[in-house]
Amino acid sequence: KHTAELIAAGEVVERPSSVVKELLENSIDAGATQITVEIMHGGIDYLRITDNGCGILKEDVRNAFKRNATSKISVDSDLEKIGTLGFRGEALASISSVSKVQLITKAKEENIGSAYEIDGGEEISFDDAGCPDGTTLIMRNLFYNVPARYKFLKKDVAEGNAVASVIDKIALSHPEIAITFIRDNKRVLKTAGDGKLMSSIYAVYGRDFASTLIPVDYELNGMKLTGYISRPTNGRANRNMQNTFINGRFVKSRTISVALEEACKGSIMIGKFPSCVLNLQISPEAVDVNVHPAKIEVRFINERPVFDTVYHGVKSALLRGDS
Ligand code: ADP
Ligand code: MG
Repeated sequence: KHTAELIAAGEVVERPSSVVKELLENSIDAGATQITVEIMHGGIDYLRITDNGCGILKEDVRNAFKRNATSKISVDSDLEKIGTLGFRGEALASISSVSKVQLITKAKEENIGSAYEIDGGEEISFDDAGCPDGTTLIMRNLFYNVPARYKFLKKDVAEGNAVASVIDKIALSHPEIAITFIRDNKRVLKTAGDGKLMSSIYAVYGRDFASTLIPVDYELNGMKLTGYISRPTNGRANRNMQNTFINGRFVKSRTISVALEEACKGSIMIGKFPSCVLNLQISPEAVDVNVHPAKIEVRFINERPVFDTVYHGVKSALLRGDS
């Protein structure tokens, strides 16, 4: 494989958590209602994701691993909208060029599934397989052929924690999907998939956190802010538990974070470092997603109305909650 290509792959695939993020988004795009993620040793040695989504047609399997081989409609203007998941036909090509991948998939409309194997971008085998509808992707030995990248991976625990954090965010933004996470043979997360945000919060953060939640439901400036704020549970007084979503997608926004903290100033219930799971519904045109290549940090075309909506939304929730 050409070095430049492997380096390019490294931009999409940095570490196990970025692999998990891409694969989870594929499963979501495929309409899955149940997703299981399993990792061993931080996801570096072994990573499996199984979904009950639409599956991949036999004739499309090879193609899915080719660069820019997206099956998803991509109009130019889509790039500006935050609703579009994924790196547009880069993920499977990149992942399979820097690891050993096994894909088992069956499309609902076909009688027989496929088993495909690809190592470092080289096809190893392609067979028929009897399997349920949906897709399983197993990735082994991340960066086995890119020592320069392998070297930069952190210890198993740190990589595993990063994977867990990605799964938590996805679980919180998709309460309608039952998500299970198995880490080194231990089941560490199982969400109900009943469509209730509260159920996901309970599964991810536990009972303590879920018992101090204050609901937020507010509309202003054509935006809608919904979700919960809470005081951080013991020992977690930091911003790690500030989960903000825009149109259902996890993002970081300084404006939202500042508005949240300003609104919580002086609240007895919340204290410093409010925790939250908040979704802002906003017209995609009002969001500038081109700030960060991984599309996590966003800016708004007009920051002020966003600040106001979050600030007043949280304030009015607190007024109800503090009384
Ligand atoms: P993108 O998601 O941007 O289209 P990917 O490289 O992530 O690019 O995936 C390539 C293609 O493989 C997708 O467009 C989709 O058709 C197919 N695919 C990948 N994962 C799944 C899955 N879990 N279920 C169904 N189809 C999938
Ligand atoms: Mg994708």
